[in-house]
Formats: sequence, structure tokens, C-alpha cells
Amino acid sequence: MNVFVLNCGSSTLKFQVVETDLPLIERDADRRLASGIIERIGTQALVKYEAPGKPAVRTASPVRDHRAGIDMVLRWVISDTSGIEGIRSMADIHAVGHRVVHGGEKLIRSVGIDDDVIHQIEDCIELAPLHNPANLKGIRAARELLGDGVPQVAVFDTAFHATMPERSYLYGIPYQYYRRYKIRRYGFHGTSHRYVSYRYRKWKSLPREGVDIISLHLGNGASACAVQKGESIDTSMGFTPLEGLLMGTRCGDIDPSIVEFLTHMEGVSVSEVDTMLNKSSGLLGISGLTGDMRELLEEEEEKQDRRARLAIDVFCHRVRKYVGAYFAEMGGAQAVVFTGGIGENSAVIRERICKGLECLGMRLDAERNRAPLPVSPHIGVICEDNSPVEICVIPTNEELLIARDTVRCVHDVPRRW
Ligand code: ADP
Repeated sequence: MNVFVLNCGSSTLKFQVVETDLPLIERDADRRLASGIIERIGTQALVKYEAPGKPAVRTASPVRDHRAGIDMVLRWVISDTSGIEGIRSMADIHAVGHRVVHGGEKLIRSVGIDDDVIHQIEDCIELAPLHNPANLKGIRAARELLGDGVPQVAVFDTAFHATMPERSYLYGIPYQYYRRYKIRRYGFHGTSHRYVSYRYRKWKSLPREGVDIISLHLGNGASACAVQKGESIDTSMGFTPLEGLLMGTRCGDIDPSIVEFLTHMEGVSVSEVDTMLNKSSGLLGISGLTGDMRELLEEEEEKQDRRARLAIDVFCHRVRKYVGAYFAEMGGAQAVVFTGGIGENSAVIRERICKGLECLGMRLDAERNRAPLPVSPHIGVICEDNSPVEICVIPTNEELLIARDTVRCVHDVPRRW
């Protein structure tokens, strides 16, 4: 089965084509046939297509909206230019899997999309006004372009965290606001934390209930997740992705009184402060330079920039705080896993995070950290052999889980991982 995986953001569109099916999932033999991204939809967009074994294609072309973008991508997918094995026409695309950011309290597992599900995703727009509308555009466009005969499935970023207990998800505000408006912690990056847990379980041949790990997804957005007995019991993002760790441009945890204080002092509106907390805070805000970790590390090393160092220090400090908190919450963990652009690629940041955490049983091996020891095609170990708590790097692959959930929903097989 060829699954078209779609991840629509406000002005971006990422896609993959994944060949998968129940027997392929069982053998872990499903594979990516193509991938790509369109950025700056609505203007002169930047387009990138990749198919394994071929040079990436980069172009710039006007893309009016998400529908036009998906149309363009599908045309490329079925074209001779892409040369994707086994795909010659639209009929060779058998299903579509959509990443949907917010499923609220009702959509807590992947589901086949029908009108009722679309209404339920619309109901969550209030909770994710920046994300769910873009996801819905993708769903509607794919339906129009591929027809009702091609099944579509929604996979929610929040779903993995639906197992959080009340003590983790409730805020300390009057309970009526939870009841009235569903103000609570939902958590995001769920598919990535689930993927990491799945890979760890496979490597160790554990049953699902045997997985007790702390997953650290460190990218432009960043979150930590406490996975106990295979389920998310706590995570650092909350009502929105703004809470928790310091991120590229998001502030992470702050005292909420700052919002009122700033509106008063700067004479700006609440929504302007909200934009500042989302778009010009975090690494960018502290350094005053960039929200990109790789660039910050360069500034720190080459120019000894003090604020670049400060931003990186706050980032690492916050991750360490959450790791410590989750150890206490879980009463110990088998492993701490790094994923996401920073977690997968930056040995320096991993080292700075792990420094001083030997007290928790995390003994990083400096050499392995620079070149992770491959223990499976998907996992690199970076701790000493006798480290009481394993430390690993597992490159995330949310698209693979979205494709697999799509297959399972189409075949009406319950999701397992
Ligand atoms: P997103 O959350 O948008 O998916 P990614 O997971 O791709 O983002 O992570 C992007 C972040 O990873 C950027 O801050 C980038 O600088 C950082 N990054 C990627 N490679 C490296 C590297 N080798 N060293 C340090 N940071 C890196």
C-alpha cells in the first residue's frame, strides 16, 4: 500500500510517500519512497523534492494555497521525473495520512476521516487556532484531488498524551475552567515520543508495558515526555506548545504575571505579548541573534558571544530540570533518549545536558557521544557500558507512524506499537 503522508502548517506543507502494509509493518520493512517540502505557500514558494538514490530537486514556483501545493506535489509524485517505483498514476496512491496537531479530549487515537471527524477537528480549532485550520485545509484538498474513494486518516500530536493522569494534566486554576473550556495540559510531539518508545521497545524486545523512558524531542519546538509502562504520564508542553522547555523562538515556562506586566509597561496588547512569547522569545529572544541552535553554537565558539552562551545554557538547564523532575515522578527510568534536530545532531548539547546528571545514573561516554554506537539501524548508544541508565539517540520518524496508523485504520486493526 502506498500512503501519502501530509503535514500541513500555516504556510508550509511537508509530505512523504511510504510503502507499507500490515506484513511490512510486522517485518519492520516498510520504506520511504519520496519526501519533500513546500515553504512560503501563498507567495513565491520554495519547493524541495527528494527520492532515495536521486539528487534532491529544488525549485521556486508560485503556489497560491495548500490545494495548489498538494496538486503540484501529487503531479510530481506520479510523474516520470520523480521516477518513484510503482507509482505511475493517482490510482497508485492508496491512502492519505494527515498529521493533525490537536485532537482535544475526544480524538485520542488515529481515526479514519469522515464528515463527523472533520467536525470534531473543527471543534478543536479554538484550542489550536494556528495549526488545526492548516491541517483541515490539507484534508479538504486531498479529498478533492484524490476523491472520496481514497481513505484518509488523521493522526493527532496530542493523542499519545491522552494517558496522562489528572495530576499531570490539570492546571492549578479554578476547576470550572477545565470543565467549561477544557483548559488543561494536552502535550504535543506525541507521535515522535511514541516512535521513540516503539524503537526502544523493539531494540530491547520488551512488551509495551515494559518501557520506562524519558524522551527528549529537541528541535525548533522542544518537549520532554515521561513514558511509564509504555504510556505518556507527563510531558512538558501544555495547553499549547508554548509551555515547558526553552525553544527556538518560544519562551517555554514563564510566570503568567509577566503577560499583564508587559502589557502595562510596554503599552502593548495581550495578543502582541502572546506573539512575542511564541515568535521572538526562546533561544532567539535571549541571544538576540537567532533561534537556530547550530548557528548559536557557531557564534559561541567563534565569537565567544556571551548571550549566545547564555541562551544555550538556559536551554540545557531547562532540559536537565525536566529530566530530574521526570526521574522523580517515575521513580527511575531505563533510558533517556534524544531525538529531534538538536537531540539527534548535537553532541555538544547532549554533553552539556548530561553533565552533572551522573547522580541519576546517567554516565555519558564522551567518545560514543561524538559517534553514537549503532546497536540497531535506528538506535545509537552514547553512554558507558555500565551506565545504570542508558542514554541513546533515536532519529525520529513521525511520518512512518502516521503511515502505519493509516494502514491500521484502513484495515480496521487497532493501533499497536
Ligand atoms: P523542527 O522542530 O522544525 O522539526 P528540527 O527537529 O529539524 O526542527 O530541529 C531544528 C534545530 O536543530 C535547529 O535549531 C538546528 O539548528 C538544530 N540542529 C540541526 N543540526 C544541528 C547540529 N549539527 N548541531 C546543532 N544543532 C543542530
